Amino acid sequence: MPVDGIDYQAQLEALLEQIRAKGVRDARVLEAIRQTPRHLFVPESHRHYAYIDHALPIGEGQTISQPSLVAQMTQLLELQGDENVLEIGTGSGYQTAILRRLCTRLTTIERFPRLALQAYRNLQQLDLPPITFVIGDGTCGFPPYAPYDRILVTAGAPPKVPQPLLDQLSPNGGKLLLPVGSRQYQVLTRITKHGQRIRSKTFGECVFVPLVGKYGWKPDEVDGWHTL
Ligand code: SAH
Repeated sequence: MPVDGIDYQAQLEALLEQIRAKGVRDARVLEAIRQTPRHLFVPESHRHYAYIDHALPIGEGQTISQPSLVAQMTQLLELQGDENVLEIGTGSGYQTAILRRLCTRLTTIERFPRLALQAYRNLQQLDLPPITFVIGDGTCGFPPYAPYDRILVTAGAPPKVPQPLLDQLSPNGGKLLLPVGSRQYQVLTRITKHGQRIRSKTFGECVFVPLVGKYGWKPDEVDGWHTL
């Protein structure tokens, strides 16, 4: 049904077609995307672009990720529905909403309080089960609910994968999905843990904003100058 003269539903169906064309075939993932109105997660100034397959600004120099990449990453998590999941980089909360439909427990961490609060408000508009919101440095993980069956990082990690995330991953086939590389571009990497054995597989290049924190990039390595 058109809202403000825009037929978001038709645009969403067209976007789903593009996502399918990019190889996302997992019916549960596609349905979770269909159930999640992206325009609710995009600032009003950019709302008319909400169903174009692009990252968009959300404030604090951060972005809501490209929908096809959100879909691909969600598919790579291979969620069965009964997992305990940790998301690092709440941002707009869009990926959070999709994950919440596909697991049993979800914790999401964001370093910018303002974004976490906006994401909380965005997510309240949807009828979703509870989500734990944490404001802080996600490179340290979140020990209270560890071990996690899945950890998804939606910001670009440096070549040395944050050790706390490996430590907090379940040894029973836990999967950690994260972009790894330089500040400019990364390789999507999935790490699987069986016992103490760690296996890693890559899935092509991607571009994310940097993961900033104790076990990530240092703020001054990414933010440049500050003046008052
Ligand atoms: N999934 C989000 C992507 C947001 S961009 C979306 O689609 O809206 C990545 C987010 O990671 C940004 O909001 C950024 O502030 C956050 N981030 C970067 N480093 C972080 C850290 N160490 N801990 C928590 N969040 C972090």
